[in-house]
Amino acid sequence: LVEVQHLAKSFGDHEVITDISFTVDPGTVTCVIGPSGSGKTTLLRSLNALEVPDRGVVRIGGTTVDFAGINPGPRGRLPRPQRAELMALRRHSGMVFQAHHLFPHKTALENVIEGPVVVQGEPLDEATARARELLDKVGLAEHADKYPFQLSGGQQQRVGIARALAIRPDLVLFDEPTSALDPELVGDVLGVMKTLASEGWTMVVVTHELRFAQQVADQVLFIDGGVIVEQGPPQDVIANPQHPRTRTFLTRLL
Ligand code: ATP
Repeated sequence: LVEVQHLAKSFGDHEVITDISFTVDPGTVTCVIGPSGSGKTTLLRSLNALEVPDRGVVRIGGTTVDFAGINPGPRGRLPRPQRAELMALRRHSGMVFQAHHLFPHKTALENVIEGPVVVQGEPLDEATARARELLDKVGLAEHADKYPFQLSGGQQQRVGIARALAIRPDLVLFDEPTSALDPELVGDVLGVMKTLASEGWTMVVVTHELRFAQQVADQVLFIDGGVIVEQGPPQDVIANPQHPRTRTFLTRLL
């Protein structure tokens, strides 16, 4: 279970997230939609403590962090126990970024084993065997020994997905994973994500791909102005929105 309660985050005077609460049931897909600048990425990054919210509670798996007690000093440094809390939360989720963020000097396989071996201390042979399985799952078995520059953008992004799964996360976070791709490469990445959804991975996906959200999401959160304006299954929020702001947003996107 993932539980977010009363999350809030400002950058300077700009309150990007005002008060956001929701839950994610295990094995379900939550798609987050909303206008540009509405705080979708900030929300996602808050779930694995890449951003430190000002207030709110995040619970993932067995770890609960109350951000009211986590206060970076003026230079953004956290005391060691607070940093340990954030690391404990981060270990529960794998993140797939908008652009792939792969290590350019490492092969696809080396990128995938980095987290399990270096961060989690898994034996190299076990991590390697699992990384090969994951690269096979994302359709890249024969590209395991290639470097990122030898792969297409869509292939790089699929390595990024394999890497996010390699740490055996309770939750997989996707931040607009297809928005930086050429249109002809989008389908492969969405296809892999559909497979993961059908395998029961718990996923939170920030996306502008409404068709994907309609086909795959169990719940859709429409975010605007720092709050969840409307939430529910896609057949309600996307196909039959109730709130005027949701309607306006969807009309612009379609
Ligand atoms: P998009 O769909 O365009 O990616 P988004 O909904 O994901 O947008 P965010 O990236 O979360 O929105 O940004 C929300 C707001 O917070 C924007 O106005 C952005 O400029 C601001 N913001 C995000 N990160 C920072 C930061 N590190 N410092 C200052 N402002 C930031």
